[in-house]
Amino acid sequence: MSTPDGREWDVVVVGAGFTGLAAAHELGRAGLRCLVLEADDRVGGLAGTFPVGGRQLERFYHHWFASDTDIFRLCAELGCGHLVERHPGRTGFYHAGAVHRLSTPLDVARFAPLPLTDRFRLGRSVLRAGRVRHWRELEGLTAEEWLVGLAGRRVYDRVWRPLLAGKFGEYAPEVGATWMWTKLHLRGGSRSRTGREVLYYLRGGCGALLAAWLPELARLGVRIRTSCPVTDVLVGPRGVTGVRAGGTLHAARRVLVTTAPGPAADFLAGQAAAHPAVPGLRRQLAAVPYLANICLVLENDRPLSDTYWLNVTDPGFPYVGVIEHTNLDPAHHYGGRHVVYLSKYLPADAGLYRMPDDQVYRYSLLHLRRMFPAFREEWVRRYHVWRAEYAQPVITRHHSRTVPATESPVPGLYLAGMAQVFPEDRGTNYALRGGQRAGRLIADRVRAAARPAHPALLTTGAADD
Ligand SMILES: Cc1cc2nc3c(=O)[nH]c(=O)nc-3n(C[C@H](O)[C@H](O)[C@H](O)COP(=O)(O)OP(=O)(O)OC[C@H]3O[C@@H](n4cnc5c(N)ncnc54)[C@H](O)[C@@H]3O)c2cc1C
Repeated sequence: MSTPDGREWDVVVVGAGFTGLAAAHELGRAGLRCLVLEADDRVGGLAGTFPVGGRQLERFYHHWFASDTDIFRLCAELGCGHLVERHPGRTGFYHAGAVHRLSTPLDVARFAPLPLTDRFRLGRSVLRAGRVRHWRELEGLTAEEWLVGLAGRRVYDRVWRPLLAGKFGEYAPEVGATWMWTKLHLRGGSRSRTGREVLYYLRGGCGALLAAWLPELARLGVRIRTSCPVTDVLVGPRGVTGVRAGGTLHAARRVLVTTAPGPAADFLAGQAAAHPAVPGLRRQLAAVPYLANICLVLENDRPLSDTYWLNVTDPGFPYVGVIEHTNLDPAHHYGGRHVVYLSKYLPADAGLYRMPDDQVYRYSLLHLRRMFPAFREEWVRRYHVWRAEYAQPVITRHHSRTVPATESPVPGLYLAGMAQVFPEDRGTNYALRGGQRAGRLIADRVRAAARPAHPALLTTGAADD
C-alpha cells in the first residue's frame, strides 16, 4: 500500500499499542505521511479492550498511578480528562491460606505472617527504598541482594521472594534492583496523606481513551491498518527501504518498530547481508528475555471479595494476582457484572499458557474455590481467556547498558517499546512517553534531511567547481 498520492510513506510504524499510536500522533502533528501496521484485529496492544456489560474493558487489567502524568495530559488534550477518576486501591496479600490487608503502614504493622520485628524491618525497608534518589546507585545489584540488605533474609524469603518468583518465575534471581526500586517508588508515591494507596481509572477504560484518540489521529492524516502483521523490515546498503506485511510491500525510508525486541530481530532475519549493522543489532535484540501473560477474566453475578488487588504468594496457586476490577470501578458500570482477572506471567511454552481455554477455566476454578471457599461456579456468567506472548521484559542488572537505543545503527530503523522503558517499568504512561519521544526524534531527522546542505558547504562546493 502506498500513500493516497502514490508516493512512499515518510514513516511506517509497526504496532498500534500505546507506543505506536503516540509516535504516530507526533508524526501526524509534524505533517508527515505515516502508516501504522498492526497484527492484531484491534488497536491498543496490551491495553486493548473487549466489551463487558455494555462497556469496553482492558483484556489485561489496567489502572494508573498519580505519577502517570503523561497519560492524564493526553486524556485532557483529547477531551476525556474529566473521566479520570481517583479510587482507593484496596490491596491484599494471600499468604498461607489467608488474606491479609497491605494497603497502609498500619496494615504492615498488623501483618501477622511476620514476627513483630520483621514487620518493623519491612516497613523501614520500604521507607529506606524510597530514600534512594537515583536508580544508578542500584544498577549493579539484583533485587534480591538489595532487598536482603534492606530488610533481612527472613523478610525477603516471606514477602519479596514469593512476589518476585510469582512474577518472574525462573528469572526471579536475575531481576535487577532498579526494577524493584521503580515499583516501590511509583506505587509508594501514589498515596493519600493517610498513607492509603490511590489509583486512577478512566471511566470507560482505555477503550474510552482510544475512542477519543483514533479520530484525532485520522484528522492528522495517520493511516492505521489492523490484522496486518509485518513479516520483514527491508534494508538496503543505505538503510531501511520499507516493510513487508501480508505479502505487500510498503515503501518508506524510516520505520519505527514498537514490538518486543524478539519479533524485531525476526523482522531483520533475511537482511543480514544487506547492511553491516544488521547482524549485531539482531543479536542485541534477541538477548532481551521476555515473559508472556495469561489472564482468565470472569464475569460474575456477585463480588468475590472486597479487595481490588490480591497478591498471591501461595506456591500452590497457579496465578500471581487476583484482581477484582469492579472493586476499583463499580460493577454497575458493567451491567452489574463483577469482573475478576486471574493473572499469571510465564514463559510462552508453559503448560498453562498452551492449555485450551475451557481447560484453563476448569483448572483455575478448582484453585479459586480453595482460596474463596464460598465461591460457586454458578456465579460465573461468562469467562474470557486472554494471552499475550510479549507481556513483560525481564529487567536484569545493568539494563541501561544492554537496552537497544531508539535510533538503531541501521539507518532509518528506529526502535521504541516496553524493553526500552527504563528505569521505570513498562506501563501505558511510559509507552506514551517513549512513543512521543521516538515520534519527535524521527520528525527531527526528516526535517534535517529535507533542509538544504549547510550554506558554508555549498560555498565550498561552488569554489571546488
Ligand atoms: C497483565 C498486564 C497488566 C498491565 N497493567 C497495567 C496497568 O495497570 N497500568 C499500565 O499503565 N500499564 C499496564 N500494563 C502495561 C501496558 O499495557 C504496556 O506497558 C503498554 O500497553 C505497552 O504498550 P506498547 O505499545 O509499548 O506495547 P504493546 O501494547 O505490546 O504493543 C505492541 C503492538 O505491536 C503489535 N505487533 C506485534 N507483532 C506485530 C507484527 N508482526 N506486525 C504488526 N504489529 C505487531 C502487537 O499486536 C501490539 O499491538 C499491563 C500489562 C500487562 C501484560
